[in-house]
Amino acid sequence: MQREISTSAFVLRTRPYGESDRIVTLITEEHGKITGIAKGAKNSRRRFGGTLEPFLHLRAVFRHRPAAELVFLLRCELLGALSAFTQDLDRFAAGSYLLELTDRMVLGRESGREVYRLVHDALVLLDAGAPPAPLLRSFELHLLAASGYAPALDRCRGCGRSADGGTTLYLVVERGRLVCRACLTVGEVIRPVDAATARELARLAASPLSEAASGAGERVLDDAALVAERLLDAVTSGPLRSRSFLARNRIDSTGTVR
Ligand SMILES: [Zn+2]
Repeated sequence: MQREISTSAFVLRTRPYGESDRIVTLITEEHGKITGIAKGAKNSRRRFGGTLEPFLHLRAVFRHRPAAELVFLLRCELLGALSAFTQDLDRFAAGSYLLELTDRMVLGRESGREVYRLVHDALVLLDAGAPPAPLLRSFELHLLAASGYAPALDRCRGCGRSADGGTTLYLVVERGRLVCRACLTVGEVIRPVDAATARELARLAASPLSEAASGAGERVLDDAALVAERLLDAVTSGPLRSRSFLARNRIDSTGTVR
């Protein structure tokens, strides 16, 4: 019999399985991303008590199954609820996006404590009222770095020339990297990146999530969002459902002129 393992976790994704079970994907503090079956989750208040939802900080107890990908999720207990997500549509959209992105970027149990820490800190900051746009950009860049894709943002990926010296950088859309004019390959789809945007991206990547808000203007943040999206698209497959929800939600929010 495998031993019971207990760890802090957040739910990334959950779906019903059969009549009364659920398949649950968690990002955990000590065991990376795990997917498990919660037997009888629908009816067991005692073992799961409504904890298998996003935006709840949990202690999950599970057991590995020999030679199986799915673990047995034995029970979960609530460590803390983040309440802003159920009351504010913008925060709900931002939180849903960061959970989906984490699920997409993190492959399995090998993800370290760093990814869990990022998810934990980003959700807590969003819950406490941090402005979503810069926080999401910061989260994206840190998640890329934690996944081994640390992008060069203030210098050419090809020759290393710094953008500070007046070099214009171009985003190579397909490959999700920034290069200078001399390092461009003919025929690739490119998009020039403003020096202010490159600087803001580099700053976000180098600062903790808690310092994401900087007073950067909306134009720089919108531009940064576009660049970050391309960097992520180059290493993930398929569109993220929550990203279109974020975009739609923003267009529909009050104060935006269409
Ligand atoms: Zn170059």
